[in-house]
Amino acid sequence: MPEGPEIRRAADQVEKAIADRPVLEISSAFEHLKDYEESFRGSTVLKVETKGKAMLIRFNNGYTIYSHNQLYGKWYVRNAYSYPKTNRQLRLAIHNEKKSALLYSASDIEVLRDEEVPEHPFIAKVGPDLLNDTVSPSDLVDRFKERRFHRRKWTSLLLDQAFIAGIGNYLRSEILFVGGVHPDKRPMDCSEEQLEKMAESCIELMWRSYENEGITNDLELAKKLKAQGAKKYEYRHWVFNRAGQPCRLDGTEIIRFKAGSRRCYYCPTCQK
Ligand SMILES: [Zn+2]
Repeated sequence: MPEGPEIRRAADQVEKAIADRPVLEISSAFEHLKDYEESFRGSTVLKVETKGKAMLIRFNNGYTIYSHNQLYGKWYVRNAYSYPKTNRQLRLAIHNEKKSALLYSASDIEVLRDEEVPEHPFIAKVGPDLLNDTVSPSDLVDRFKERRFHRRKWTSLLLDQAFIAGIGNYLRSEILFVGGVHPDKRPMDCSEEQLEKMAESCIELMWRSYENEGITNDLELAKKLKAQGAKKYEYRHWVFNRAGQPCRLDGTEIIRFKAGSRRCYYCPTCQK
């Protein structure tokens, strides 16, 4: 399942293909969107924003298209009116003279007036998106201390989209490792210094993954391992997917366990 950095990269591709060019046509498989098709003709896309796993395509006609990929949605960018070979169902197509942005399989697509966006049920409750909103480490530390979050385990908090948008399963394990925090801990169990380290870890790994095709490992180390012939799944992460293998820092065996029915990985030496 794609996480925030993967969605942001998809949004970048979509934005590059459709921003600043007049829309020739928008078409959708859904009845509730058909009424709007005419109002988009000739409009221009201003930008493509993300809120975690949701995408907001902003138009200059006062409308925004909201989409959430859930488990199966996938964007493709092609030359105008060319389509990929796929068994997926086309749900939304945005065409201009040069390019087409095509959303397949997603079922969660809505047209909103710009002023309705903040009240959309997902947008209204989702936490800050570290790739889209300006969030400093100290903003995040304040958030960690909020009563609604303070007493919950990190493993559950980090997957809660109302806490921080866009963190999924691989980022959860990786953020905890770089933050040096044991997965059973809660923010209230952490020192000020640990909270700061966790805040930095959230921001740093989200950006590292976004800018480096999903790599959360130290970039120099990843490069070195790659040069030695390692495959991407072998050099991509610190601990995620590495059960039974030695920690990259101290050689301790990486442990895998289930947290909230999803797998989580950690190093018992680095994460006390
Ligand atoms: Zn370790």
